[in-house]
Amino acid sequence: RAKVLGKARYEVFDIEMHDSVVKLMQLENDLRRAIERQEFQIYYQPIVLVDTGRITGFEALIRWQHPTRGLLNPVDFISVAEETGAIVPIGYWVLSEACRQLHTWQLEFSAQPLTISVNLSSKQFSQPDLVEQIIHILHSTNLDPRSLKLEITESTIMENAESATAMLLRLRDLGIEIYLDDFGTGYSSLSSLHRFPVDVLKIDRSFINTIQTNHEKPKIVQVIMTLAQNLGMDAIAEGIETVEQRNQLKTLQCRYGQGYLFYQPVDKQTAAAIIAQDRQ
Ligand code: C2E
Ligand code: MG
Ligand code: MG
Ligand code: MG
Repeated sequence: RAKVLGKARYEVFDIEMHDSVVKLMQLENDLRRAIERQEFQIYYQPIVLVDTGRITGFEALIRWQHPTRGLLNPVDFISVAEETGAIVPIGYWVLSEACRQLHTWQLEFSAQPLTISVNLSSKQFSQPDLVEQIIHILHSTNLDPRSLKLEITESTIMENAESATAMLLRLRDLGIEIYLDDFGTGYSSLSSLHRFPVDVLKIDRSFINTIQTNHEKPKIVQVIMTLAQNLGMDAIAEGIETVEQRNQLKTLQCRYGQGYLFYQPVDKQTAAAIIAQDRQ
């Protein structure tokens, strides 16, 4: 009897393994066609002044309108896209589309100071012509480089330390600012932070969402704020969800923020309506 159960279990395991491999291969296949089928969309989440809630710019966040699975979030496909290399053409599409869209809004709403932040994957930094690609996009969309912000993580810099730093310096020379995303999580390299060409620290949501309940968290945010000030950088708080968190951040003199309390990521039509309303 034990033997029979054991065998049954093996079969269940095999079937599950088989299913997940098939699903993964299907996903890889679907991803490869998604660009030409125009299934990707960008959602835009406003970045605001913590004090007033006024919009200073947007972060571009990719979504995938999958033919059968509905609207997918990055968590459902970005890691697969990174493993297969599909993230390179996808990343290029996001950059061009986000730059084109921001330029349109700047003209439409006479909103020249609005900025757009685009997330870059470390795979994109292994492309030797990344900087040329970005220059090309800026030219073809007519966007002022000072309107473009690139979000990278510390591990992206550390994975390609020398070449990434060189590329970041060139991007910065063009007038593009570099945001360090999810700051404070994972690969923290405080000792080399001052050597990275970074303009803004984005304080990870995990430090913001417990800022009220966990007495250590405000201190950590305070330390990050002090660090940013000493390095001549700005800070953006990610994931602000409550009025209490916002007030705490005001006290800590964190100027910029992003989170559901202000706005969720929204489609481009909604984003345009939000800009119109913000500018009244
Ligand atoms: P991220 O760059 O740290 O983006 C912030 C994430 O936090 C977004 O998730 C956003 O929807 C979510 N968020 C914003 N405010 C709040 C809040 O108040 N509460 C909570 N709980 N969440 C909030 P999303 O859109 O699912 O993106 C997840 C991650 O996927 C991003 O994290 C980024 O690392 C990656 N990603 C998104 N778009 C792209 C892209 O175009 N290229 C690459 N390479 N990565 C991308
Ligand atoms: Mg980001
Ligand atoms: Mg982030
Ligand atoms: Mg994050």
